[in-house]
Amino acid sequence: MDSFKEECAVVGVYNCQNAAKLAYYSLFSMQHRGQEASGISSSDGKKIKTIKNHGLVTSVFDEENLKKLSGYAAVGHNRYSTAGEDSMLDAQPVFARYDLGEMSVVHNGNLTNAQELRKKLIENGAIFQSFMDTEILIHLIAKSEKKCLQDRIIDAILQVQGAYSLVFLSRSKMFVIRDANGFRPFSLGKIQNDDGSVGYIVASESCAFDLVNAQYVRDVQPGEMLIFEANKPPQSLQIMSPTPHPCIFEYVYFARPDSKVFGRTVYDVRKKMGIELAREKSIDADIVIPVPDSGVAAALGYSQESKIPFELGIIRNHYIGRTFIEPTQTMRELKVRLKLNPIRELIEGKKVIVIDDSIVRGTTSRQIVRILRGAGAKEVHMCISSPPTISPCYYGVDTPNKEDLISARMSVEQICEYIEADSLVYLSLQGLRQSLECGQSDSFCQACFDGKYVV
Ligand code: AMP
Repeated sequence: MDSFKEECAVVGVYNCQNAAKLAYYSLFSMQHRGQEASGISSSDGKKIKTIKNHGLVTSVFDEENLKKLSGYAAVGHNRYSTAGEDSMLDAQPVFARYDLGEMSVVHNGNLTNAQELRKKLIENGAIFQSFMDTEILIHLIAKSEKKCLQDRIIDAILQVQGAYSLVFLSRSKMFVIRDANGFRPFSLGKIQNDDGSVGYIVASESCAFDLVNAQYVRDVQPGEMLIFEANKPPQSLQIMSPTPHPCIFEYVYFARPDSKVFGRTVYDVRKKMGIELAREKSIDADIVIPVPDSGVAAALGYSQESKIPFELGIIRNHYIGRTFIEPTQTMRELKVRLKLNPIRELIEGKKVIVIDDSIVRGTTSRQIVRILRGAGAKEVHMCISSPPTISPCYYGVDTPNKEDLISARMSVEQICEYIEADSLVYLSLQGLRQSLECGQSDSFCQACFDGKYVV
């Protein structure tokens, strides 16, 4: 059985009035990381309460049910689901009662040794309710012989491998852990409470902080555990030696442009990717248009560098989720058409450069080329602001299996033919790293582009 790929978003709020409400707003701002299910657990010091359900943050929560989530601490989660499973069982937070009391856990990432651990636990009598890696952690904690929750969490963590951003809520404390490789972004912020006290927030993306008036403090460090307890400043323990391999794809596609990820503003990086692309691949054209929204920043960069005018030639209908999420191919194709509509007056008779962040299966690009030709484009040049995606991600980004990745099967020329474009170019890996102003020591995980897995 496959373990789940979890893009997802997590948040933890500690020592704040209305902690659940702050978690709610944070989840709302991180909706792009997962639209399948949403949930929040809060603690009032005596009891942990959880509400979770299918659907978007705004459909899972309302004024009434948020009131029930009282307390000064809360953890929350948006789930990004892979197709075809019962996502209610797989919604988070995962709540458990065990010999030390109650806990609730949220997890973003993917444990690479999940199958082995699960098998061992089942052989020893454990019963699982879901396919989530998170449940494995709960079992490991419940079975640990250490005396306190903090030590048990460490005990469990040292047995797992892979990518994870974790927040554990007990009735009185909150524990935050980032994997030693620091694959996924995870930031710490500070909140000034009305009564003058200081609260804390951790979130998958810093865009969550803006909405709740939190101040970005720093990233949670790879291999670090943060411990939050009443009347004490947060304590930091380096429980694993850090071997940072932050995910380069966060900059390419996943994170919001207004987030600060691994110390860089995503928007700036994306724009530089467009500039680099224009330097590497000059094309004779009349206009540069982005695939909204994923190609916007790079298209601006490309246009500025190439001096070819930027136009919003395709308009996106925002009331539709991301096309990638649809489980079947036919539905995906239909959804691209529902989502993107060209402005004929801008495109007719023109040589068009269209910029997108990546090609995964090729469905979107092919539809876009067809849409642009349908709107009268004379030539369509597809420019991708990242290198060909040739390998699946095992550290939390939901890329399909290798055989479904078009770049793993076809050459650039073949893909160009498949998507029916006049030309197709990609940004080189070196160009991408240049956009990030990487030094030699910046050890990004770029396995999706070079097939070299760090774990
Ligand atoms: P495809 O039609 O499969 O080639 O999808 C490519 C589109 O999906 C691109 O426009 C990307 O913006 C977007 N995309 C790339 N990676 C992901 C991902 N992991 N999850 C969701 N969407 C993605």
